[in-house]
Amino acid sequence: MSPTPPSQAGLSPVIDEHLRWLTRWHRAVFFPAECGLSGPDAAPMPMGFILWVKRAKDSELTDQPAVDRLVTLHEQLHRMARLVLMRVAEGTPCGHQAYESVAEKFDEFIQQCRRFEKAFSMAGSGIDPLTGLRNRTGLQEELERELNRFRRTGKPFCLALCDLDKFKSVNDTYGHDAGDRVLVAVAGAINRGIRSFDEAFRLGGEEMLILLKDTSLPEGMMVLERLRADIAALPVHLADGRTLYVTASFGLAESRLDLTLDALVDQTDQALYEAKRTGRNRIVTAAALKAAVG
Ligand code: GH3
Ligand code: MG
Ligand code: MG
Repeated sequence: MSPTPPSQAGLSPVIDEHLRWLTRWHRAVFFPAECGLSGPDAAPMPMGFILWVKRAKDSELTDQPAVDRLVTLHEQLHRMARLVLMRVAEGTPCGHQAYESVAEKFDEFIQQCRRFEKAFSMAGSGIDPLTGLRNRTGLQEELERELNRFRRTGKPFCLALCDLDKFKSVNDTYGHDAGDRVLVAVAGAINRGIRSFDEAFRLGGEEMLILLKDTSLPEGMMVLERLRADIAALPVHLADGRTLYVTASFGLAESRLDLTLDALVDQTDQALYEAKRTGRNRIVTAAALKAAVG
């Protein structure tokens, strides 16, 4: 059920090689005569980052737009740095402005690399770095523990799948950063809307799984109805001052002794699909779906 998090991110060697590269670049800019080499060859672009990008592009757990932004930053940094070295080789000393441009890009690149490293280490520890919700790590164990409690005590639990409505159009209309803000805001509403011993997991994209422990279907329905209304009324403030509202759909199922965990998740998924099909911004229970079908 759970893919392993990309703990082998490996951006710290990239940071190290760029720190070494910067020293070489400084030497080539300020003491070109002593450098032996002149022009861009005096401080060539290190290759570790290119290799990292190749690996990151294959990982479905890596935020690809963020990788693209890092690639652009890296290209800009080395283009500017090359230009300075070419001018120096032609006899034009590096001006203050050109130096500041390279220094600024360098700082920004290193800062973004460090942000990635932090995100990867959080993902490895079971926390989704964007929303702060739990990720898939530990999900299976948590569900099995609750299923065992249910078998022991006979008191059911509820499983809910939550998926944001028309989220792709939020990204398309307002940009990926706005989409991220929506995810953070909705995760916050979910965290506030469930009890401290319930659990919420971000399964990926804009799909979240909520485990309501020791909860019957009518109780689960009440919790989700309140959550649905909270999300729909939640103002999401964008960087440019605009405010956005979104809605979410839910599939809900109550545990049953004759159902495996996979079958229960499957039922929740089908109920969510029905909630989408019948208009969104609503909750459909597996029981209602079954009654309608059979
Ligand atoms: P529906 O109401 O049927 O669920 O429509 P939808 O547009 O929400 O569904 P769809 O699955 O087509 O789109 C999900 C979108 O979620 C596509 C992808 O760009 C976006 N997405 C996934 N992960 C992230 C993320 O981490 N940040 C942002 N901003 N967007 C994400
Ligand atoms: Mg969606
Ligand atoms: Mg989805």
